Amino acid sequence: MPQIFLPLDEITHCQVCGSLKDLRLCSQCGEAAYCSTECQKSDWPTHKKTCKTDRIDLTSFHPVLALIAEAVRVSATGTQRALRHVIVNSPNPGTPAEALPDGTQARIVKLGDPISPEEFSENTFKWWPTAKSEAVRLKLFRRITREGNVLPICLATCLALMHALYSTTTPAAADSPEHRIRLRYKSSPIADFGIARGKIKVAPEDLLAYVLSDGTVIKAQSPDDHYWIYFRTQKGDEAMLDCNMFPFNLCLIGHTRPYVPESVSYVPELVPMCFKDGAAGGGSSAKLAKLASQSEDPGQFLVERARFSVLRNPDILAAFEGVEVRDGSISMIGDVMEAFPEFLATIAGRKITSEERDCLFSTWATGYNVINDAALKDDRWKKFPPRPQIGIETDPGDVKR
Ligand SMILES: [Zn+2]
Ligand SMILES: [Zn+2]
Repeated sequence: MPQIFLPLDEITHCQVCGSLKDLRLCSQCGEAAYCSTECQKSDWPTHKKTCKTDRIDLTSFHPVLALIAEAVRVSATGTQRALRHVIVNSPNPGTPAEALPDGTQARIVKLGDPISPEEFSENTFKWWPTAKSEAVRLKLFRRITREGNVLPICLATCLALMHALYSTTTPAAADSPEHRIRLRYKSSPIADFGIARGKIKVAPEDLLAYVLSDGTVIKAQSPDDHYWIYFRTQKGDEAMLDCNMFPFNLCLIGHTRPYVPESVSYVPELVPMCFKDGAAGGGSSAKLAKLASQSEDPGQFLVERARFSVLRNPDILAAFEGVEVRDGSISMIGDVMEAFPEFLATIAGRKITSEERDCLFSTWATGYNVINDAALKDDRWKKFPPRPQIGIETDPGDVKR
């Protein structure tokens, strides 16, 4: 039954004399504010018992969060309809978008006969015979594999982060090996994180729509129902992480090797991750700007419409007290279990599906284990590169539009 210990949100007053001026944080923990070295020194005999804190830099750590999303997708591979049916047309790179019955546009993928998972893994040629090349085929495969469940994956990642990091605090006994673990970004502690809801601007030919043999049209992941994770520091700096752009052919990727422990059997070497300084829509990094320049309006690449704090949500904090993780799965005590899917529905502003609900709980459990195994165990995070290696996976043989 973890209790979540919130980080300091704002520096309001010196915790010794109450002064409102010249306030600075304790540089070791980022959790105590003082007006002067005198006040800090006088508080030290008490504060030292709770000061010890590992402060993990988000710039170095965020690939672990991208691993969570990928671990979930890898285990669900093959559940997408488009991977269980043969592709009978040729949606190769360069194919224009076509009009859909609802007036929108997308690149059409026509699905034919079912294909079994065995046949599929044996020979992907059978899945899509008219692909321009094997590279093109596998690129589409990776896009489809990474479709869907954007919101439950984002929320579960936040919950796993709270669960693994923010349930730790320094106990009163100074000789205890337990210590507090907190995230920081640049020089300031993370004060809040949660879900941003909005839209992502995508070129019509980078959207997919599946047409079944009976003519039914099913649109792939929606660019208008998009979510990502925002972070805000105590100083007010912002950062965002979006690991769900890949299906839109916005293929920012990062190397996973430095983050994957040897015990993890299979995670791809490159996984989607877009980490950006600042809030969505402004101050884009060079890599993202380069990516965005391929779409119509770089300034409107991601448009935030609403945000929902997860870390500081009172209902979520209360519900956490009934949560347990046993043998890699989440169990709940009492009625708290419903608080999490209800929050999912609140963020989405709609009813959620049973698949989304299941995805929320399974991703949370996976995420909790990934953070512990990849980052916290044996202090692995201390060996992470200061910033990850990032690249862009373009369409095979594609030249700049
Ligand atoms: Zn003071
Ligand atoms: Zn301190």
